[in-house]
Amino acid sequence: MNAKNDRAAWLKGPSAHCAVPPQTQTHPRRFVLLGAPGVGKGTQAELLSERLGACQLSTGDVFRAAKSTDECERSPAINRALEAMSKGELVTDETVLAMIKERTACLRCGGGFLLDGFPRTVAQAEALGELLARENIQLDAVLSYELPLETIVARLSGRRTCDKCKAVYHVQSKPPKVEGVCDACGGKLIQREDDRAESVKVRMAAYASSTAPLADYYRKKDLLVSIPAEGSPEAIYQRTEKLLEARL
Ligand code: AMP
Repeated sequence: MNAKNDRAAWLKGPSAHCAVPPQTQTHPRRFVLLGAPGVGKGTQAELLSERLGACQLSTGDVFRAAKSTDECERSPAINRALEAMSKGELVTDETVLAMIKERTACLRCGGGFLLDGFPRTVAQAEALGELLARENIQLDAVLSYELPLETIVARLSGRRTCDKCKAVYHVQSKPPKVEGVCDACGGKLIQREDDRAESVKVRMAAYASSTAPLADYYRKKDLLVSIPAEGSPEAIYQRTEKLLEARL
């Protein structure tokens, strides 16, 4: 996340206002980020957000934010969504789309947006297309981060997240200075429920059957930019920038 953008309107819904709204850009960038869980797309979304000023709009972050609210404050639909999420299953299109519609103002934001984790199915992509057409907003590109499956599984099982500031570490490739403790805020590092082995298997199957066909969907619309996701986050970012320069 761009430290300057607090994403309150996105994370908490339309009744919340961003204390620090993104700066209006001359050419606001609007991207969808695709990629299997663990491919590093969240990290790329953070880098793109910092450097382009656009907000990282992650649907997974909205569900995780809902998880920390009081159970009796949650709607039945959100409770069902959280249950699906803890098993690694996809939340229903109906729930996800209702949540996106409530947050249409974030799509109109003059800072642009980076949709991270949405759309996840062709039905969601079609609904997003209709929503953007109604708002007269065009996507610049769909960035598809690609890696072999074995590499992804190794990345996911070693991932640790700070339960306070949400910073992401990896037991091998990006360990914290002190095991189990966040370098940035001293918070506790935890393994996300859905990064455990049983959930990873379900998430990969959901990705293969529902999300992978999205690459074809956007390729046909001439929006797809395929990006090999090997190497350091900075190397992947530089690759992304080069591919985008050639296109935008
Ligand atoms: P993520 O952080 O993007 O990996 O999302 C975490 C979990 O939230 C997923 O495994 C799903 O259970 C749920 N989720 C997030 N975005 C969506 C979506 N667009 N459609 C369905 N489920 C979603």
